[in-house]
Amino acid sequence: MKTAAIAYDRLRPPPDGVVILAYHRVGGGSGLTVDLDPALFADQMAELAASGRARTLSDVVDALPEPGGPHRVAVTFDDGTSDFVEHALPALVEHRVPATYYIATDFIESQTWFPNGGKPMTWQALGEAVSTGLVDIGSHTHSHAVMDKLSPGEAEEELKTARGLIEDRIGVQPDHFAYPKGVFGGVANEAKVAQHHRSAALAVCDVNRYGEADVLRLDRSPIQTSDGMAHFRRKVAGGMRLEGRLRDRLNRRRYVTSAR
Ligand SMILES: [Zn+2]
Repeated sequence: MKTAAIAYDRLRPPPDGVVILAYHRVGGGSGLTVDLDPALFADQMAELAASGRARTLSDVVDALPEPGGPHRVAVTFDDGTSDFVEHALPALVEHRVPATYYIATDFIESQTWFPNGGKPMTWQALGEAVSTGLVDIGSHTHSHAVMDKLSPGEAEEELKTARGLIEDRIGVQPDHFAYPKGVFGGVANEAKVAQHHRSAALAVCDVNRYGEADVLRLDRSPIQTSDGMAHFRRKVAGGMRLEGRLRDRLNRRRYVTSAR
């Protein structure tokens, strides 16, 4: 899949725009493909800092409607597991790279473990991460609900509960939202998302182009262990788009099959 993606990039070089990187775990010891070695993550953040391209998600969302902006990269994390403070935050702080952390609030509020041995963050640790001035909290629904399975009423409840908890427990507004499993929630639920958030992200590995991108359907590029530094560089440059598309299609098929 990666070889085909590299060949595709050669045929159609990625345009300048905004690349949003999606991370899940760092040093979590889960063996998941999205659970990165802390040293690799630190090297990636060092390189990103040196490139001068890293910006907050809010900055890139503000800039996207205008055509012709410079190539920028925003770092995001999903879910809300405690390895974030132990292994990711130190590298972000050392290299002064901002990040948005999309959290599924039910796991944090009830201290329920995530699948694959994911220890939940605490509200206190999240508050401390925010106080570094580098971390911004977004919503990933309350229960990590796949949005296209929800009625508009259920979607509203998920979004309202998550938003209320984030505001109440750490005193910040979750401006940004990420669809769990990167699955789009349908037009009715997207309207609910738009009522509560300034932006919403999916999981398609692609560049968000200035003047064209829909901030309620932002593309994100997931980073896996197997990317190492070489494929990380390609993704930062906006490449590996074919991998994202194939993976997205595969995930949808798997998801549809498992939901039966
Ligand atoms: Zn998630």
